[in-house]
This record gives sequence, structure tokens and C-alpha cells, in this order.
Amino acid sequence: MSPHFQTSSSDEEVPVLIVGGGPSGLLLAFLLAQLNVRSLVVERYPTRLAAPKAHALSPRSLEFCRQAGLDVNEIRRIGSPRQDAFWVNFVTILAGKQVGRLPYERMDQEVLNDTPTMIHNIPQPAFEDFIAKRLSKINLVEIRKNHSFVSLEQGDGFVVTKIEDRASQKEYSIKSRHVVGCDGARSAVRKHLGIESDGEETCETMMTIHLNADLNPVIKERVGMLHWVMDPLVSGFIIGYDLSGNQVLICNFDPEKYPVESWDEKHCREIVDAAIGVKVPYDILSYRPWVLSRKVAHSYRMGQVFLAGDAAHSFPPTGGLGLNSGLGDVHNLAYKLAAVHHGWGSDSLLDTYESDRRQVALVNSNQSVKNGKQIFGLLKALGTTDPDMNIARQNLYHNIQDPEAMVEINKGIEGQREHFDNLGLHIGYVYGDKEIPSNVSVFHPSCVPGARLPHAWIKVTPGQLQLPAIDNSYVHEFTKDEISAKQYSTLDLCHLDKFTLIVDESNASHFKSMVDEAFASLPEDIQKVLPLQTVVLGVDFDLQAGPENQSWMNLMRLKEQGVLIRPDQHILSCIVSQAGSGDFVQALKEHLGWN
Ligand SMILES: Cc1cc2nc3c(=O)[nH]c(=O)nc-3n(C[C@H](O)[C@H](O)[C@H](O)COP(=O)(O)OP(=O)(O)OC[C@H]3O[C@@H](n4cnc5c(N)ncnc54)[C@H](O)[C@@H]3O)c2cc1C
Repeated sequence: MSPHFQTSSSDEEVPVLIVGGGPSGLLLAFLLAQLNVRSLVVERYPTRLAAPKAHALSPRSLEFCRQAGLDVNEIRRIGSPRQDAFWVNFVTILAGKQVGRLPYERMDQEVLNDTPTMIHNIPQPAFEDFIAKRLSKINLVEIRKNHSFVSLEQGDGFVVTKIEDRASQKEYSIKSRHVVGCDGARSAVRKHLGIESDGEETCETMMTIHLNADLNPVIKERVGMLHWVMDPLVSGFIIGYDLSGNQVLICNFDPEKYPVESWDEKHCREIVDAAIGVKVPYDILSYRPWVLSRKVAHSYRMGQVFLAGDAAHSFPPTGGLGLNSGLGDVHNLAYKLAAVHHGWGSDSLLDTYESDRRQVALVNSNQSVKNGKQIFGLLKALGTTDPDMNIARQNLYHNIQDPEAMVEINKGIEGQREHFDNLGLHIGYVYGDKEIPSNVSVFHPSCVPGARLPHAWIKVTPGQLQLPAIDNSYVHEFTKDEISAKQYSTLDLCHLDKFTLIVDESNASHFKSMVDEAFASLPEDIQKVLPLQTVVLGVDFDLQAGPENQSWMNLMRLKEQGVLIRPDQHILSCIVSQAGSGDFVQALKEHLGWN
């Protein structure tokens, strides 16, 4: 402890201490509150950085939000409208020639056959504010800003964490049953625990420049989420969080030519001016160098302490997977912590957090680095690598006029398609599956243990679900009838605070007796608290008409089996109709870790 600190001896107690009030920490606090678990969030800084960072909330992240009661219709009203974010443009300079374009992720109407909530682009601070506002109305969460993690000690089933109140420079301690380090890529919690990371650094050095230009008059009708700029001085991309005044330019630079220490506002302006190509007023709000790298912590748990979000894994933004992976972590961890705190899960359930989530981070981090290498490789390969900037520029403009060179350039752009379509990674991961996807854009729903429950649009009796109907009117191609048929998803049947058994009307009474028998065989203390609901196709819900929904029936095979879903909407077990209650109890027992 630093000599000037005074230590307060009066410990406070809280069930869960969350270190870090970024998106992962905030969502975790929100989820725990929904699950009736009190938490305290300590956040090092009084205010968050203005740099917008993430922009893409994946379909799965929006599914988590919806399940937790964060209104996705409202989230969609903040951020970029679908039509403004639809494309990735490849341009010489913003004011110059468009060389090619690709769709930005899956925002076509067909994707709504696979998810109820297509990707949405929203600046990270706006998303954080959205959650923070809702947290401020919840008694089960306290957020302490300007309070920083110092150290921790683990006892038998508890943790005592030292926190510094940075305003008063006093240290105090918090006793909690669990601590979750959501304190970002340079996690002090991870360092304190001595957890090393797997990963690699590439030689690609990058600079992120935050600016506030009004780019609408330059871009005109060529709107899009990302604008890859081929000019050799730039060799990077602009994220158009708000084209009228909030953008980030990320560029690849040669540190031998432009050492990091030599960067200043003047040099940033040269790059930004070259990227825009015409004079527009703007300020450089910040600039920050980084290296294209990936890191995944060797372990996500040590005793009663967990790592989540960037604290557990960090990778480059090429793929938009970082924030989304963190939200996936806390969605997975929240119900497990709640199960332990409420007495229906044992400590070993918490080990499944790492086995479920670490593999997802390994796959996502590899893909993000691969995307980064490929796209910056493309920019370099455009004949623009000549050390003399003027010659490099001449090469670029010569190449894009040359039909033969354009064939190669178009091939190169086409080769980036997978980078901008990660649907398979967003919603296709299957817990327990170690296979690396051969194409991350491909998504095939499956009904196997570990997979996310496949989505289909359903009809429910009005008032049966305590969720607002999904408003798909932002998809202008849909007719009124199509919009009204796409309001509730099979995913809405699964609540965050319980297991769900989905069965068909034809075998519902058999499964009901099976569940009764299973409960009767459970220890009394678990019987009383284990939350489980059975939902019956044909009684509690029906599928909307349409061929996609028929595929859901074929996958789920509900005439032959009941499908048991975990609180995080992933399948725990498929229980054949002939099975006795033993199989059902066994599935729960193995997962929840009862003896
Ligand atoms: C330019 C850019 C674009 C990106 N685009 C995307 C995208 O489109 N999609 C996507 O999924 N991801 C994207 N990312 C990644 C995304 O921003 C991160 O993955 C995300 O911020 C991680 O959230 P987190 O809550 O885990 O960590 P952080 O956001 O880093 O939050 C950690 C918090 O912990 C606090 N903290 C740190 N130390 C302490 C301490 N000792 N005590 C208390 N608090 C502490 C910090 O102040 C911070 O508030 C992008 C990143 C960048 C830079």
C-alpha cells in the first residue's frame, strides 16, 4: 500500500463485486439484478472516454438484451439506421472514386429467419449510457465511479478486495462471495491473479484517430458503416458512427517511416485530410497507437474470481467481435452465479463458464487477426506500396483505370466478404464444440446440446410473454402482414431465470409426469428453488406459417423428444419421449453439479 493511504477497517459486504464499468461490467450488473443478485460495480474513472470504440451490436448481443428486458426497439432507435449502415465502401479517398463495396454484415431481410434481432450499429458510449440509465433505477446495483481495484485476497468461499477511492485517496475493503474482473484489456485483476494470456502480436502497427467532421457533403449518397480508403498515405478505414460529426479513422502505418513518438496532431491531420480528399472543418479529438494482436487468458477463473470481456480476451476491431464476445461472457456467467447464490447450482457449475466461453474467444480472436491481416494485406497489394508516396499514388490511380488490374482488385475485395459477415460466429457457436468453422459466414441452426435454441417466429396468446413485440418496421421491404408475423421468437420462450422444457402437445402429458417424477426425486432443498417451466407447442405457442418455420419443426423433432434449454437459451439436453425421469435429472445434475 502506498504510504499516503489510510485504510478503513470497516468492511462492506456485497454478494458480487464487479471491477470495471465498461459494457461487460454494466451488462453483468444488469443481468444479476434481473436474477435478484445484488452487485457493486467499481469503475476507475469518473467519466468514460469519449472515443466511440465498438459500433456493431451483434444479433446475439441484441438477443441477450431482449431476454434481459432491455428494449431492443429502443436500442434500434439510437445509432445508425439500417439503410445508413448497410454497406462497406472501398474508395480511393472519401471524395474520390468508389472501387467496390460489400454488404456490412447481414442486414438483409432473410437474416430474420435465423435471428429475431439483426445486427445494429450504435456507438459504444451510447450503448453504455443506455444500460447505465436503466441501472440507475435498480436498487440491487450500486456503481462507484472513480474507485479503483487495488488488490484482493481469497478466503474460504469469499474474497476481500481492496479498493481505492481516488477522490479521497483512501483505501477500503469489500467482502464478497464472488468478484468479476471486467476491467478491460489491461486488467489489473488479471495481473493481480498472475493469469497469463495466449496470443500473438503481428508486425502491423495501427493508429486510431477520433475526429468530428461533417462527412455527409463528401460522402453524399455513398453512405455506409465502414469506408476503406486505399490512398497509400491512409491505408485504413473510417468508421462512420455518425457521418455528421463522430468518426474514427484507423490506419496501418510503417513505424520505421513514422515512429510512434513522431505522431502529433499535425500528422494526424495530414492523414485525415488525405482520407477525406477535400477541405472540411474538424477537430482531432484523440489519437492512439496500437498493434494488431490477440490475447486470450489461460484461465477465466481463479477460486472465487472470474475474468470477463476484454479482461479475459482482447483482439483487434477487424470483425467487430470484441464487445460482443464480452457480452456473451457475462450472459453465460450471470445465470451461473445466480444459480450458486440462490442455492440451485453448485460451485462446479461455475467451471463451465471457462469451458463454454474460452473456446469462443479463441475462435473470435483468430478470425479478427485473420481479417486484419487480409484486409491490410489487400490495401498494401494494390500496387500502392512504393516507398515514394507520389509513385504509390500514381500506381493506385493507374491500377483502378486498368481493366486487368481491376479484375484482381475486385477479386481482392470479394475475398474480404467473410470479414464483413460473421453470422456463423455471432449465433452459431456450440458450447463444447472445438471445431474451428471453415467459413464464419455460414450459419446452420442445430438442435444439439450446447447450441443456441434455433429461432422461429411464433404466435403467442396476447399478454402471455412479458416482452414488448419486436418492431420490424425498420425493414422497409416488409409488408404490414410480414411485420405483424415477426413479433415474437422461440427464443422469447426462454427466461433468464429458469430452465425451459419445450415439448409438443402430443406428448405433453408424458413429459409433465416425467418432470413431476424428476422433481420428487430431487433433494428437498433443490426441489424448492430449482426454476423450471414447461412450454407446449400447440398450447402455449404456435409457429407462424412459412417454410422456415417448418425447418424449425424438422430440427426440433418435438414429436419424438423434449428439448431442455438452459437459462442462457442454449440447449442442455434433448430428451427422447420414451426416456424416464432419470435422463432428465441426470442432465440437470451434470450441468448444475449436484452430487
Ligand atoms: C475502434 C474500435 C472499434 C471497435 N469496434 C467493435 C465492434 O464493432 N464490435 C465489437 O464487438 N467490439 C468492438 N471493439 C472492441 C470493444 O470496444 C471492446 O471489446 C469493449 O470495450 C470491451 O468491453 P469491456 O467492458 O470488456 O472492457 P472496457 O470497455 O475496456 O471497460 C473496462 C472498464 O474497466 C475500467 N477499469 C480499468 N481498470 C480498472 C480498475 N483497476 N478498477 C476499476 N475499474 C477499472 C475501465 O476504466 C473501463 O471502464 C472496438 C474497439 C475499438 C478500439
